[in-house]
Amino acid sequence: MSTSLKLTIITPERKLYDGEIKSINTETTEGHIGILPKHAPIIANLKPTVTVIKDNKGEVKRLFTSSGLMKVEEDNIIVLCDASEWKEEIDFNRAEKAKERAENRLKNREEGLDVNRAEIALCRALVRLKFKDLL
Ligand code: ATP
Repeated sequence: MSTSLKLTIITPERKLYDGEIKSINTETTEGHIGILPKHAPIIANLKPTVTVIKDNKGEVKRLFTSSGLMKVEEDNIIVLCDASEWKEEIDFNRAEKAKERAENRLKNREEGLDVNRAEIALCRALVRLKFKDLL
């Protein structure tokens, strides 16, 4: 029985991950999901979150993944997302400013505001800021 999965994480700009893993935990619009070998085939919508990967050596890696899609089929996982960063790549000042902008938009509720867009922008910023406290 296969004990590993092949994971590829791609953004419009680059390939963040390409390798064999033991598991991945991430968040879909329906809730948290963990994928192990032999998972049923799925396509899921991803929410901005802290995605946790256990690599083949058992090492745990965490990275920010934004909105996107995940396809799982025959132990192959493809994550296509709008943006993704490792902790050391995250600019926390930028995320703090993005958080304030989104919070102000949601507070002021100016006419024509795309509430869903502002809420997702706030979610991206809050998840990026979570990495401050993660090892
Ligand atoms: P901002 O309003 O600051 O652009 P955003 O959440 O709208 O934030 P995204 O659309 O998620 O930004 O990402 C656009 C690009 O900028 C991607 O390449 C992403 O990796 C990068 N990026 C966005 N915010 C940060 C950040 N705080 N630190 C590092 N890279 C970031």
